[in-house]
Amino acid sequence: MSDTEFKDLPLMEPLQRALAEQGYTEPSPIQVQAIPLLLEGRDLLACAQTGTGKTAAFALPMLHRIVTQGRKPFRRGVRNLILVPTRELAVQVTESFRTYAKHLDLKIAMIYGGVAQTQQTRDLYFGLDVLVATTGRLLDLLQQGHANLTGVECLVLDEADRMLAMGFIDDLREIVRDIPKERQTLLFSATMAKGVAKLAAGLLDDPAEIRIAPQGTTAEKIDQSVLFVRLRDKPALLLDLLHGKYFAKQSELCLVFTRTKRDARLVATHLNREGIRSDTIHGDRTQAAREDALRRFKEGETPVLVATDVAARGIDVKNIGLVINYDLPMDPENYVHRIGRTARAGESGRSMSFCSEIDQDVARFKSIQKLIKQTVPTICAHDFHDAAIEALHREGTALPETGETRRPARGVRAAKTRAVKREKEKPKGVSGAKAAKEKRSGRAFRGFGRGRP
Ligand code: AMP
Repeated sequence: MSDTEFKDLPLMEPLQRALAEQGYTEPSPIQVQAIPLLLEGRDLLACAQTGTGKTAAFALPMLHRIVTQGRKPFRRGVRNLILVPTRELAVQVTESFRTYAKHLDLKIAMIYGGVAQTQQTRDLYFGLDVLVATTGRLLDLLQQGHANLTGVECLVLDEADRMLAMGFIDDLREIVRDIPKERQTLLFSATMAKGVAKLAAGLLDDPAEIRIAPQGTTAEKIDQSVLFVRLRDKPALLLDLLHGKYFAKQSELCLVFTRTKRDARLVATHLNREGIRSDTIHGDRTQAAREDALRRFKEGETPVLVATDVAARGIDVKNIGLVINYDLPMDPENYVHRIGRTARAGESGRSMSFCSEIDQDVARFKSIQKLIKQTVPTICAHDFHDAAIEALHREGTALPETGETRRPARGVRAAKTRAVKREKEKPKGVSGAKAAKEKRSGRAFRGFGRGRP
């Protein structure tokens, strides 16, 4: 944190009171720099590491300005719009706004897809001071005439580089077309690739720039490590880690990232079968199921959450001590965001990334280290460490031709799997139905790497 205290910042008393009740005394570096600029009405492009208080950095000056300007929203109108990439983040950002605004009489609401729109249209009907939204549902409601953005005074893109990337950019363009050019625009993120920064510039008017750390910088107190392991051994290694055989403290929460929804499901099933309570968050689950999984994770009821990259950004859960990249992310920026789910608000945490022999992992690990400008240290003190895979990644040494460590071609794999399956055909001391079920899930679990993220 810094020498400045919140009371040194020109924020109104009801906000100061809410902050004191939250136990915040010192603003974080991003808050110290951003709040005065935003109170002046400047546009801003801000880059700071994960978990360093970006939400309060834009929420506090926004709330202050809403009250001091004294304008009321008109029917179906929105005065301040925050766009976020995921539903979970919408919920979290809205909760933060409500916490900071608890002593103010403001209308704050959120809209996102995957749930009925009735409550959302009702919230919009009388106009909103603050709306937190995902782009898809917002566009739907705009097209149906339930929302009007012609009065937006301030637009925030949280996780801005994601919002400006493929998958969001078209929706974003359409939304921005409805918003007046005369507005304040704020872009916040921990990563900001060069191409994206150019797009960002088109949205901003003479922006101030804050870079607390170069883009791609990982949070300081994360103890990062990589474990070189054969693809086929990843399930067993994960189990050993979570059983506390090697490194995991069993009391802490652990977030495990897989590349596909299918693998998230399979990993969680495997863990549950082995007595480790876990749940999943991925795009195929209903919003209610995702929220429920997150709530039970936060409460420690299911201490392991297996997720795809929908949970990589923004999610703020206090006790995540360990992030495991069961699969490396396809996009190196997401490595920074994924491991940023630990070591938040000045705490410390650990991340462990599994790195296998497949070509994609070689390329992904290389681009991750390039982005973060660090060499991630190896942990070899575990039963599944594979020195040949480490040499492949670190020195580019080819794997031995024995076929020992190289992943066989898919056809060969399938033949091997069939042979192993035949071997295992006979159930040992379990009922026929149970054995068949176990066999099915066991087989499915070994078939990683397919399915869609
Ligand atoms: P964010 O980066 O906005 O997701 O915030 C990360 C975490 O830091 C959240 O749990 C916030 O509640 C917390 N936080 C934000 N600002 C402060 C502050 N000035 N003092 C203490 N905690 C804070």
